[in-house]
Amino acid sequence: MARGAFSLTGRTALVTGASRGLGFAMARALGEAGAAVWLNARDATALIDKCDELRHAGITATPAPFDVTDEQAVAQAVGKIAGDAARLDILIANAGIIVRKPVVEQSTADFASVVTTDLTACFVLAREAARVMVKNRHGRIINTSSVMGRIARAQVPGYAAAKAGLESLTRQLAVEFATSGITVNAIAPGFISTEMTAPLKANEEFYDWSRRRTPMARWGEPKEVAAAALFLASEEASYVTGHTLVVDGGMSIAM
Ligand code: NAD
Repeated sequence: MARGAFSLTGRTALVTGASRGLGFAMARALGEAGAAVWLNARDATALIDKCDELRHAGITATPAPFDVTDEQAVAQAVGKIAGDAARLDILIANAGIIVRKPVVEQSTADFASVVTTDLTACFVLAREAARVMVKNRHGRIINTSSVMGRIARAQVPGYAAAKAGLESLTRQLAVEFATSGITVNAIAPGFISTEMTAPLKANEEFYDWSRRRTPMARWGEPKEVAAAALFLASEEASYVTGHTLVVDGGMSIAM
């Protein structure tokens, strides 16, 4: 039977940070395209609820509770998924945190905590997933970066540095795995309405400024980021690797 465009039937995906926000939207999009999805976050109860929601929509969804900064837990979870499903085709390394504070008030621990979650954990996840993907000679690794990896804003030093590093890591992994059937890409969202950005949206002055700053004059929705993930996860993106797909309503290319 011919597969439709962007079909992920038969594929298995792990999405980190999938208990809400962009991660959940991406897990849903992959599931709707036919993938069996494993949803990660630290809160097992939240994941069970979210998996139930997806199952009601006919999606095969399984909770994978672990902390992405716990190297052993990452290796165990990837091993379990690869064991249960006999494959791991798609990794979306999306879990991320941000610390917003003036640089002079940021401790080294503040900075390091963001780099550990937003960059180092993505390296560990990619390494563990690639060990499985190389054997199957098929894989899609997608990292969630941010426009902040390319352009700067005040008070987010760890986040900006980690996301810039993540885009560089994406290119490095893309080159390393280019002949192994694995593509490695990133998505750089602009302002998207999620729990992470709720404090920014609640600040009327900032929210107005951010819409004026965006050529499309609005924030994006999680499903608009999920569509980019679906493309990069699909067979149709087979010759796209090392790329960062910016999803920002034109914000980062406008003065
Ligand atoms: P969010 O805060 O709503 O969700 C983050 C998710 O990551 C949650 O499920 C949280 O539980 C999980 N998480 C955090 N630390 C974790 C850990 N150590 N282990 C496991 N799970 C962990 O954020 P969001 O807005 O959905 O953002 C998702 C990703 O997109 C992040 O990497 C973020 O930097 C990036 N991003 C978001 C925006 C935006 O406008 N929302 C813009 C650019 C980039």
